[in-house]
Amino acid sequence: MSRYERQTRFQPFGETGQAQLEQTKIMVLGAGALGSHIIDQLARMGAHHLAIVDMDIVELSNLHRQTLYDEQDAQLMTSKVEALKQKVHTINQQVHLKTYYQELLSTNIEDIIKDFHPDIILDGMDHFKIRYLINEVCHKLNIPWIYGAAVGSKGTVYGIDFTGPCLKCLLQQIPQTGESCAINGVLPPIVSIVASYEVAEAIRYISGYGFSQQLITLDAFNIQHQSLNIRQLKDDQCPVCHFQKYDVLNDKQNHTIEPLCGDTVRFRLPAHSFDYASDFPGHMIKSTPFAKLIQHKDLAFTLFKDGRMNVHGITEETDVHALYHQLLKAIK
Ligand SMILES: [Zn+2]
Repeated sequence: MSRYERQTRFQPFGETGQAQLEQTKIMVLGAGALGSHIIDQLARMGAHHLAIVDMDIVELSNLHRQTLYDEQDAQLMTSKVEALKQKVHTINQQVHLKTYYQELLSTNIEDIIKDFHPDIILDGMDHFKIRYLINEVCHKLNIPWIYGAAVGSKGTVYGIDFTGPCLKCLLQQIPQTGESCAINGVLPPIVSIVASYEVAEAIRYISGYGFSQQLITLDAFNIQHQSLNIRQLKDDQCPVCHFQKYDVLNDKQNHTIEPLCGDTVRFRLPAHSFDYASDFPGHMIKSTPFAKLIQHKDLAFTLFKDGRMNVHGITEETDVHALYHQLLKAIK
């Protein structure tokens, strides 16, 4: 029996679908819960040309829902893309996974996508705003993409191929969760369901059936499922898919201080900060080639190779700007 016989026996997919899947270049943005589940399924199904973009490290708090990572990855603070590369190699050696250890920004997203040249993009991001950037860049480069989101027990999936509404058109229809899983938590079953629906839409598209054209919303705790035909919701005044105005993509400002969820703020410090981390106040708790952990009073800093720093433990009284400038001064 051939490796993929159980899926090729499913007639609508068949040998032809399998052959297409093996040739298609698929890019996954984000290697968190959704992204790692998506990569897992696609690698097992025999998608030979995969790419993943992410700049996070594996943490213990990821392991309840990010099934490809393990305690050793968290202990070593391995980058998620590197951990995925190793896991994929053990799952299916025919799969080539190209990794981009980079944070997706308006300044680099176009170059990263053009470098891999994907036929289709799957969304594995964990915050909402970035999807508007993905929506714009995919429209500009004419690449179909699948929106997927999972927060709490709820999830949403929608395949966007530019014949129907784009994400911007659906602003009113897509649940504006705004919240993220760091605040509202996330239940592991909704992650695997959303990831599976994203892969299902991808399989449909790749094997020639096109996206389902449904906005799928799910709840893995109240056990609800809704699919809504939204073709008629295409906005004929949509700035993105009608007027090709790419405001988010064209905003090249990188914000040096960005509030993340809960008690965390992200600083963007110069990239050389990583090499001079010992000059920062506080003491170094852990250091790996991917990240450094520094404890400074009640604050915990996670410093990444590109100079990004997540500051945990911010309180109302913390003067965030003063802290940013203190850190900046320390490494000059
Ligand atoms: Zn639109």
